[in-house]
Amino acid sequence: MLSIILMGPPGAGKGTNAKRIASEYKIPHISTGDMFREAIKNKTPLGELASSYINQGLLVPDEVTIGLVKERLSKADCDKGFLLDGFPRNIAQAEALSKIGEEIKKPINYVINLVVDETILIDRISGRRVCKTCGAPYHIKTMKPSKEGICDLCGGELYQRKDDNEETLKSRLHEYHLQTEPLIEYYKSLNVLRDVNGSQDLDVLFNEIKEILKGE
Ligand code: ADP
Ligand code: ADP
Ligand code: ZN
Repeated sequence: MLSIILMGPPGAGKGTNAKRIASEYKIPHISTGDMFREAIKNKTPLGELASSYINQGLLVPDEVTIGLVKERLSKADCDKGFLLDGFPRNIAQAEALSKIGEEIKKPINYVINLVVDETILIDRISGRRVCKTCGAPYHIKTMKPSKEGICDLCGGELYQRKDDNEETLKSRLHEYHLQTEPLIEYYKSLNVLRDVNGSQDLDVLFNEIKEILKGE
């Protein structure tokens, strides 16, 4: 069982690295942000609720988010492992996750924390473009697609997320420091946290992650 949490502030590279890890180890990539954006795209009641929080840079309420993750983790494709990206984002979610893990016998064995300086985060968020179809992230300077505006993986159209603007980013960073950062101490005290420098070259970074996951 290879069950991983990938943590880090907005723009740290969770989505980018998650895609690589999930494909290398053949485990599902579970991103609560992607799940919410999919619901928004499909105009479901969940999407309607989530968008009012996401557009303000606030966390979607725990009851909703925890229920969504529990349902997803219970599926058979998570039996051999999974990668959580963007969940948990506060202590209540982390505690709920540990309870769910016990209930469905899928405990977490690695927590990887991407560490990136705040000035870099602002550049990353403002230059991020995302595929409308598959959610793959690109960057107008550091991770250009081979054809401008088009996803290398699926040919989908790239767009800028509505919450990737300076003002919303401010409240997302505030939420991060207030609610998510305390998880670092939480997982440190459980002896599962591994810090990784998220501002390095992606290949170097990926090798470091593989080194951590070695033996699996
Ligand atoms: P980023 O990649 O910039 O960290 P995400 O795509 O993970 O952003 O999340 C986008 C937004 O979706 C968050 O700002 C928040 O509003 C909502 N969201 C995502 N995951 C969670 C979660 N675990 N709990 C509450 N809200 C969440
Ligand atoms: P998160 O999911 O944590 O919000 P993303 O994976 O979407 O972060 O990455 C944020 C932005 O930074 C994207 O535009 C991505 O292309 C870019 N990026 C991510 N990691 C790196 C890296 N190691 N070097 C350069 N650019 C990166
Ligand atoms: Zn795509």
